Amino acid sequence: MKQVELIDISKSYDKQTNVLNEMNLSINKGEFFVLVGPSGCGKSTLLRMIAGLEEITGGVLKLNGEVANHLPPKNRNLSMVFQNYALYPHLTVEQNILFGLDVKKVNKKEQKRRLLETAEMIGLSELLKRKPKELSGGQRQRVALARSVVSEAPLCLMDEPLSNLDAKLRAHMRVEIRRLQRKLGLTMIYVTHDQVEAMTMGDRIMVLNDGKVQQVGEPITLYNEP
Ligand code: ADP
Ligand code: ADP
Repeated sequence: MKQVELIDISKSYDKQTNVLNEMNLSINKGEFFVLVGPSGCGKSTLLRMIAGLEEITGGVLKLNGEVANHLPPKNRNLSMVFQNYALYPHLTVEQNILFGLDVKKVNKKEQKRRLLETAEMIGLSELLKRKPKELSGGQRQRVALARSVVSEAPLCLMDEPLSNLDAKLRAHMRVEIRRLQRKLGLTMIYVTHDQVEAMTMGDRIMVLNDGKVQQVGEPITLYNEP
């Protein structure tokens, strides 16, 4: 079953140069799909188009089999995790995690249930009353993950979520994210420029260069390329 389909997707910011050029791609439900490529090749642009944060210039985007080019972001049933965590500094961990649920008008009892379950799963139960500045980098990143998980959206988009962490914590979080994704059966689109991350995390990897797909395949097949 396909969760995300890109059909001849193009993107241009200035109507002259294409950042993405007639890209075709299908991502299956429950797949951990990694997007890798050098800085400026269009990875974030592609994620933002799928999230509805960036206009699609050409082609068709389907989510769950339905055309979604003009679907408002809040109706796309997906969550997003950013490189800089995007936490609200004046809100507590708990308030940060629940922020999106308030916006979606999820009732307080359901919010509490999801909060406790998620905090337990991600190891934040002791930190719920703290502010972001009282957390380590790894803990902040975990709050960002928790905010994505409480949404219970089946599709998760991550844009270089680990690039601000040190090497040891990155290695730890790679495993954590993969474990969560499996446990929840999430479809993941994960952007990175880190080859190790791509190779160790991805069910499939797409290598982008200059707005074009260079390779798509399982990690093992990419390893064996000459
Ligand atoms: P990546 O995430 O792979 O680093 P981006 O998707 O951020 O790449 O950027 C792809 C290209 O599009 C780059 O050349 C970048 O300068 C350009 N770009 C990104 N966002 C904008 C924007 N809002 N306006 C104009 N050009 C942009
Ligand atoms: P840092 O303090 O550098 O951010 P970590 O975030 O990796 O380091 O870990 C902080 C603490 O949380 C450690 O004691 C670690 O064992 C614990 N921890 C890490 N992951 C989990 C988890 N999934 N569940 C519960 N506790 C965790």
